[in-house]
Amino acid sequence: MKETETREQLALNGGPKVKETPFGTGKRFGFEEAKELLEALEQNTLFYHFGGKVKQFLSDFNDIYGVKYSVAASSGTAAIHVALGAAGVTVGDEVITSPITDQGTLVGILYQNAIPVFADLDPHTYNMVPASIEARITPRTKAIVVVHLAGNPCDMDPIMDIAAKHGIKVIEDCAQSYLTRYKGRLAGTIGDYGCFSTNDFKHISTGDGGMVTINSGDEADFRTAHAFADKNYERFGSTVTRDLRGLAPNYRMTELQGAVGIAQLKKLHDICSKRTRHGNRITEGITGLPGILPHKVEAGNESTYWFYMMRLDTAQLTCTREEFSAALAAEGIPNQPGYIPDVVYMQPLFQNRQAYLGSHFPFDLTGATYERGLCPEGEAILQTAVRFGVSEFYTDGDVEDIIRGIRKVAEHFRK
Ligand SMILES: *Cc1c(COP(=O)(O)O)cnc(C)c1O
Repeated sequence: MKETETREQLALNGGPKVKETPFGTGKRFGFEEAKELLEALEQNTLFYHFGGKVKQFLSDFNDIYGVKYSVAASSGTAAIHVALGAAGVTVGDEVITSPITDQGTLVGILYQNAIPVFADLDPHTYNMVPASIEARITPRTKAIVVVHLAGNPCDMDPIMDIAAKHGIKVIEDCAQSYLTRYKGRLAGTIGDYGCFSTNDFKHISTGDGGMVTINSGDEADFRTAHAFADKNYERFGSTVTRDLRGLAPNYRMTELQGAVGIAQLKKLHDICSKRTRHGNRITEGITGLPGILPHKVEAGNESTYWFYMMRLDTAQLTCTREEFSAALAAEGIPNQPGYIPDVVYMQPLFQNRQAYLGSHFPFDLTGATYERGLCPEGEAILQTAVRFGVSEFYTDGDVEDIIRGIRKVAEHFRK
């Protein structure tokens, strides 16, 4: 093997580090949030129905998304549960979703006593493959929860066609995908419902919180979703009803969250456009490197990069994924091998088929089992991925350093 000039000494082996300056940081919350919070407190109520902050937050959110109705919730997990409830998902239904996601995607499905079914993923976008979704449809399938992973949209046109053909609902999990665009359309406005999270790790934060868009624009649909988030209370103007016509949790958002959300929404465009620019630049900078498979965004789409996840083709490298990750970290580029430890169906809940203590319900309704190999591409992605953060606070120089770090390590380990 001949040594090329491009092969620099790794920081791991005592060579000079690529990243010598700290990454850009910044404050997410400032005077704007404080002012909104003070106004919320001065209302002398923190209850969404009596105050104006959650209402204003939703109205601003609806304007950004161009939707007529949305419902506030206490978390992204709650938002997805609300959408499932509004979609009529119930005992023994099957819901098709992604094997690489936050467990918040799955909680509502199981609380409705429905059965999660996993579709396999595209090797480079890490999103659900329409053909795999269609192959998993049975007479029990009631809904698809698509997960737009890491700010990158799923292939919605074929997914919506499949759903229409089989008469099933589509819920978009947009927790990682604010202002993500699929062929120009905003993710979260394409399916029947779009679900968002404002937990502290997302593009914008209210500490915790969530929103659900009601894309039908239908008032009855909106009322169902609204009631599902408030234990079946319907509170509109001076009219309050409390018909307990079915089981619904209390997922209310408080005025404090709504207040912070108003200020955070004003920053959303800036946050997302910076992340898009940084992520796209990273792809440009690492495309064509030996053994490096960039995070793919399909032509015509726009990712807002909640994170950046590339894959390694170790057949073209002399190192393992773990060695690559450690070498990159030593260059001053923090990163993680993979994302979640394994596909979600390998978690004990699915392996033991036990969502509720001492019971196999609802899995025993269909005899559902979850074996290794169910979604081979999803499993392979997590075994070969290297993931790192993208931040709106990163400077262009930080992004160039990330690229230089990856280039150096890839060139060092090229076969
Ligand atoms: C964060 C997240 C959720 C859950 O959001 P919470 O607000 O933490 O409940 C759901 N799905 C995905 C893909 C997420 O990243």
